[in-house]
Amino acid sequence: MTPLSAAFVAKITNGKVISGDSDIVMSGLSIDSRKLRSGDMFVAFEGASVDGHRFVLQALSAGANGAIVTRPLDPDVSSNEKPIVLVENALTAVQQLAVHERAAFSGPVIGVTGSNGKTTTKDMIATVFSTGGACLSTEGNLNTELGLPLTLLRRVGTERSMVLEMGMRGLGQIAELCRIAQPSAGIITNIGQSHLELLGSQERIADAKGELLEALPRDGVAALTFGDPWLERIQSRTKARVFWYGLSDAADAFASELESTERGTRFQANVFGKSVAVDLPTRGQHNVINALGALLLGSVHELNLSDMADALHNLRASVGRLRVINGRSDRVLIDDCYNASPLSMKASLGVLMEQAKGSTTVAVLGDMFELGSYERQGHLEVGAFCAEIGVDKVIAVGERAAWMAEGAKAAGHPHVEYFASKSELLHHLEQVVPSHSTVLVKASRGMALEDVVAFLTRV
Ligand code: ATP
Ligand code: MG
Repeated sequence: MTPLSAAFVAKITNGKVISGDSDIVMSGLSIDSRKLRSGDMFVAFEGASVDGHRFVLQALSAGANGAIVTRPLDPDVSSNEKPIVLVENALTAVQQLAVHERAAFSGPVIGVTGSNGKTTTKDMIATVFSTGGACLSTEGNLNTELGLPLTLLRRVGTERSMVLEMGMRGLGQIAELCRIAQPSAGIITNIGQSHLELLGSQERIADAKGELLEALPRDGVAALTFGDPWLERIQSRTKARVFWYGLSDAADAFASELESTERGTRFQANVFGKSVAVDLPTRGQHNVINALGALLLGSVHELNLSDMADALHNLRASVGRLRVINGRSDRVLIDDCYNASPLSMKASLGVLMEQAKGSTTVAVLGDMFELGSYERQGHLEVGAFCAEIGVDKVIAVGERAAWMAEGAKAAGHPHVEYFASKSELLHHLEQVVPSHSTVLVKASRGMALEDVVAFLTRV
C-alpha cells in the first residue's frame, strides 16, 4: 500500500481522526491482528461473532501504526499517541482506500470472472504475466467485495501487472468490483449454471458476468471462451476489443496436437499466428482452455510466447482441484472435491476417462448445490453423461445425487450405486470402490468429499 498519513486516510474515507497523532504514516492494512505487520493500519470490523474493536489495543502494541474504527473506543486506546480514524463503515473505508491505491497504478489490471475456472485461470494469468515482472494477484479465492480491495492494498509498488478474481452471487456485484478495480482487461471463462438459485436464469447469470465487459475501457481487451453461446450473446456489451480462445482453430488462441502426459497435457498453443509447445502440469481439456486464455492475454500485452509457455510448465495445482494421487489397493485417485457444477463435473469426467488408460473407471459424485430450478435437470444430465462416456461405475452420494443415479440408470448404465449420506458411503467405501481402478471424487464444497479421498489414501 502507498504509505498514507492518518489525516490522509481520514480524508479518503470521509472519516475523522478522533485521537492520536494524525501525521503518523501507515504502510499497510490489516483486518486480522494476528497477521499484522509493523507499520500497518488495523481495521476493526464488527463481525457477527467477533468484534474487531476488542483487538485494537493489542494491534497497536503488536506494531500497528494506527487503526480504523466504526465507534469510539475506551480511554486506554484513545490516550495512545497512535492515531484512530473513525469512519461510518469499515468495508466502505477499505474499498475507498483500494480505489485510491488502484489510481496510483498504471499497468494492466486484469479482471477474471466466469462460472467455473476463475481461480485456475487467474493463477495461470498471474504465472504468465510474471514473465514480464512482478504480478500482484488474488490469493486463493479472495474474490469478494472485501477480498478484492484487500488484494489491491497488498501492492508494494514494484508490480508490473495485477490479476484480480471477481466472484459474484447476484446482479451488480461484478459492476461494484469493477468500480474499485477499474480493469483494463477482462476474461470470462464461461457462463454455467452455478448460482442459478440466486439469479433465476442462465440469462441473468450472463447479464451479471457481462458487467465486466461493460466496465472495460475502449482501449481495453476482453478475452472470451470460444463456442460459449452466452458469451457470444453478450460480447456486444463492451467497447473494448474482443478476442476468443478455445479448442477450435477459429479462435484467436487455440490448441492443437493435444496429448496427455504423466502429469498433465502437452499441446501446441497457437496464438495470433505464432505457435509454441506447452507442457501443462494440470489435466483436462478445460485447463488447456484456461491456459490459452492466459497466453492470449499475455500476447495482447506483448509478453514473449515461449517465456510464457516455460512459466506454465511450473504451474502449481491447487489442493483439491484435479490432483492425482495414489490410493490404497492400486487405486489412482483424481481428487477434485474442491467444488462442482454440471459443467465442471463433465469436464472432470472427461479427465477421468483420459487418465484411466484402460483401468476400471469409477466416479464418486456428490450433490451440486445452488442450482435453483436447474437442480434436478443438472443432476440427471451428469448421470446420463456418465453413461454416455462409458464410466464403468457410478457412485452417487447425497440427497440430490439421487437424481444423478436416476439419470445414469435411465441412460442404461448397468453399475450405479447410491448412498443417501456420506457416512453411509464411507461405511461401504472399501467394498464398492474396486481395487486397481481410477477414481474421480467430486461434489460441491459443502459435501466435503475430501473425507472420501482421505479414506482411500489411508494406509
Ligand atoms: P469458485 O466459484 O469456487 O471461486 P472458480 O470459478 O474459481 O470457483 P476453480 O476453483 O478454478 O473455479 O475451478 C473449480 C473447478 O471447475 C475445477 O476443479 C474444474 O473441475 C472446473 N473447471 C476449471 N476450469 C474450467 C473450465 N474452463 N470449464 C469448465 N470447468 C472448469
Ligand atoms: Mg475461485
